[in-house]
Amino acid sequence: MDKPMNRWKRIYHKLFRQKDRIGEYEALLKRALENGYRVMSLLEWVREDYPSGHVLLLRHDVDIDSRGAERMFEVERRLGVHASYYFRHLTMKSSLVKRMLREGFDVGLHYETLALKMRYLQLKDKKEISSEILLSCQQQLAGEIQEFRKSFGSMTSLCSHGAAWNRKLGVPNHILVDDTFKKEHDILFEAYDEALRERITTYISDASVTDASVWRYGKSPVEAIEQGDSVILLLTHPEHWNHHFLSNVRKLWLSFLDR
Ligand SMILES: [Zn+2]
Repeated sequence: MDKPMNRWKRIYHKLFRQKDRIGEYEALLKRALENGYRVMSLLEWVREDYPSGHVLLLRHDVDIDSRGAERMFEVERRLGVHASYYFRHLTMKSSLVKRMLREGFDVGLHYETLALKMRYLQLKDKKEISSEILLSCQQQLAGEIQEFRKSFGSMTSLCSHGAAWNRKLGVPNHILVDDTFKKEHDILFEAYDEALRERITTYISDASVTDASVWRYGKSPVEAIEQGDSVILLLTHPEHWNHHFLSNVRKLWLSFLDR
């Protein structure tokens, strides 16, 4: 395996080597439609009781690039398909969220409540996460959901963000969202729920230019489509698709803030 890039090389790649891939994204969706795939948001799929057989599910985790999210949304709108978008507070652009909801897209929080708490408390080990800490994070997340609904109306799903602090302590944010939490706060699903994952045939994620923009977990979406895989989940992060120099500078800055 290649050695991981050093910091300066990563910065160089992120600033100068990223290419705009929105055209590639559009071609990919067209390929799926031409091959008879139903292209859906996670919410549409769950509401229809998990149809199988040539389904392409689109999930976007908007970590640092709301402009990229907007460009991907425009492509989907043009092609008449819906997707699921999960925004961090950092990237939640109110006018964009409103437009997406109006157009029938699925929008939810890409929450990092536990990661922020771990960072605030400067925890060293996951054993330090007490039930009091978990409870206070759940209350905090409930408040975030309420705020979102007050601003935008509906929110039916959540999706955990993987922050540096989650990796550091080896604990994901979604441990906060158990069945009781979902019931109490009227959340239909969390994107990492086992009920969803076990019904997905092929799970594919994009990667950064510093990881050679590879497709993670085995195959590319085009391969999965050509092979006729039943339920494909395609997870994309808009920052890996929307490129021009100034946005690359901004994204680099935001990714530093995340540490
Ligand atoms: Zn994320």
